[in-house]
Amino acid sequence: MNRRKIKYQILGLLLVAAILIWLAVFSQPRAGLLEVDFFDVGQGDAIFIETPKGYQVLIDGGPDASVLEKLGQEMPFYDRSIDLIILTHPEADHITGLIEVLKNYQIGQILENGFKRETAGYKEWQRLIKEKNIPVKITQAGQVVNLSQGIKIRILWPDKTAVNSSPESSNNISVVSQLIYGQREFLFTGDIEKQVELNLAVAGIDLESDVLKVAHHGSKTSTNQLFLEKVNPNIAVISAGDKNPYGHPHQEVLERLKNVKTYRTDQNGNIEILTNGQWFKAATER
Ligand SMILES: [Zn+2]
Repeated sequence: MNRRKIKYQILGLLLVAAILIWLAVFSQPRAGLLEVDFFDVGQGDAIFIETPKGYQVLIDGGPDASVLEKLGQEMPFYDRSIDLIILTHPEADHITGLIEVLKNYQIGQILENGFKRETAGYKEWQRLIKEKNIPVKITQAGQVVNLSQGIKIRILWPDKTAVNSSPESSNNISVVSQLIYGQREFLFTGDIEKQVELNLAVAGIDLESDVLKVAHHGSKTSTNQLFLEKVNPNIAVISAGDKNPYGHPHQEVLERLKNVKTYRTDQNGNIEILTNGQWFKAATER
């Protein structure tokens, strides 16, 4: 082997080493910080959570494939897996993007409420779960999912009777969950309406949370005053589409939230909240 060849081989090795180091640096999530992203996916919900150790959770996927682009912005290109998906309820504005996620990412586990729908979307969802052999767990109020480093997700709703009652709309059997890291809590409410909010408010469950994902895109049928008092949030996030046909968020809800710092995906774009378990800070795209 001549000297020149050796030189090129060493250069090659150094280049590979440099690339590996950069990959390791970029794959290291911000030290000690939990990140929660409320993606602007139009009229729907898609919420991405990443723990300091890099455990990733996606709650709902929005109404179309735009969630893939959002995930691409948050995750490095070589990360093709998500640890946990929570489908709050199988309506199109929550499940459609998740179907695209199932096609494009490897999924560790799925949590859903167990309510089966006869829609093409739900059938495709089930087909993909079967094809890719993804473990599915049916949520139960009272369940706790441990993520990492004491970070957990408490499932608060629905209970079995609610799911078995075969409701006309699945909004009121949306999976309601609370993410807890240190002193900070996030409450995710899917599309539940007043009756479930009241049910939770009087059940003696500790609902107090720093961040409230406002239920049902800010519809006036949700965000009841008593529920709001029990949650007592510092920050409210409304996920709604710009000029959506439902007029979400409704003025009444914005009125009820007047003393809470409120972010809206239709106005602020993507909303990112970071916390170290003590302090938290929010940043928005616009
Ligand atoms: Zn919805």
